[in-house]
Amino acid sequence: MMFTRADNIKLEIPRAAIEAVFDECDRYNVDETGGRILGTYNAAGNRLSLTVNGVIEPGPNAQRTQTYFKQDGEYQEKVFRQIEDHLPSIEHLGNWHTHHVNGLHHLSSGDIQTYRRIVGHSKHNIDFFYALLVTEKVPGKTGLQRYLFKNYLMRRGDETVYEIAANDVSLVDAPLVWPIAKETMPARRHTPPRDTVVANADLVQDHDAISQFFTKVKTLQSKELGIYWRGDITLADGSDQEVVVLRDADTSVCSVTLRNPHANLEPVTKALGKNSFPSARAALIATERACNAQLVAELSHKKKRGRLWMF
Ligand SMILES: [Zn+2]
Repeated sequence: MMFTRADNIKLEIPRAAIEAVFDECDRYNVDETGGRILGTYNAAGNRLSLTVNGVIEPGPNAQRTQTYFKQDGEYQEKVFRQIEDHLPSIEHLGNWHTHHVNGLHHLSSGDIQTYRRIVGHSKHNIDFFYALLVTEKVPGKTGLQRYLFKNYLMRRGDETVYEIAANDVSLVDAPLVWPIAKETMPARRHTPPRDTVVANADLVQDHDAISQFFTKVKTLQSKELGIYWRGDITLADGSDQEVVVLRDADTSVCSVTLRNPHANLEPVTKALGKNSFPSARAALIATERACNAQLVAELSHKKKRGRLWMF
C-alpha cells in the first residue's frame, strides 16, 4: 500500500477531540471502534485546511468485532442534524477508527475502498474525505500520549491516499460542538439534549470567529475557569490591548477585563466591568469598539484644544 505525504493540507484538532477518541479506544480494547469527525474547512486552490470541531460516537446500536465495525448511522445523523441547525457551516469531514486491536499500522485496503466510495458519492457534500486512524496503544503512557494516530485524506477524482505530515497537525485548546461535557450528558440518553447542543455550537462559533478576526486572542481551558479567552486586540491607533474574557459555565454569559490598560482607557475599563455579553465574540467586538471610541474621543478633544490654542 502506498501513501503519499501531503504537502498542502493543514489540520487543527482540539485536544478534547483526541481525548474523546482515546476514551472510546479505552472502552473497546478488543474490538474495532470509531466515529464521525465534524468540522469546517477552507480550500484555496490545492491548499486545504481542516478544523475539527467535534466527534460523534458510534452510537447505541453500533456493531463491533475485532475486524468489523459498523456505526449506528441513524443515531449519528440525528446528532449531526441538531448540530447543523445551530452551526450551518459544520461538515462531516470524515471518520476515525482504530487498528490498535489488530496491529495494522495504516489504513487497510478495505478502508481505502470504503472511503473512495464515500468521497465519490454524489451525496457526499465535500470533495474530500478525512480519516483519523489510531494505530497503536503506547504502553506506560497516559493522557494524549497513550495512543498513536495518523491522519489521511482522499480527494474526489484522485486515486492517491494522502497522509498528512505530523508537523502539519496542530493540537489546540478549542471547545467541541460534540461530544458535550460528560457531567451534562445523562447516562444512555439517545437523543442530544437541545440546550447543550445550542451552547456548544455557540462556543464553536466563538472559536471560528475569534480565530479569524482576533488572531492574537487564544481560546484556553483550565480546570478552575473552564473555557476562557486571552490575548491582544489591536486598536485603531495601532496599539495592542490585552483582554481576558471569562464565561460562566452555567449561564454561558461572558464578562471581559482589560489587562494593564493604558490610563486613557480607564473609562472603558469601568464601563466594561459592569457589562455582560451573550458570547465571547460579542464581548471582544464590544471591547474593541469601546476602546476605539475612547481613543477617537480623546483625539477630537485634543484637536479642539489645539484649535483654541492656535487661534
Ligand atoms: Zn481499518
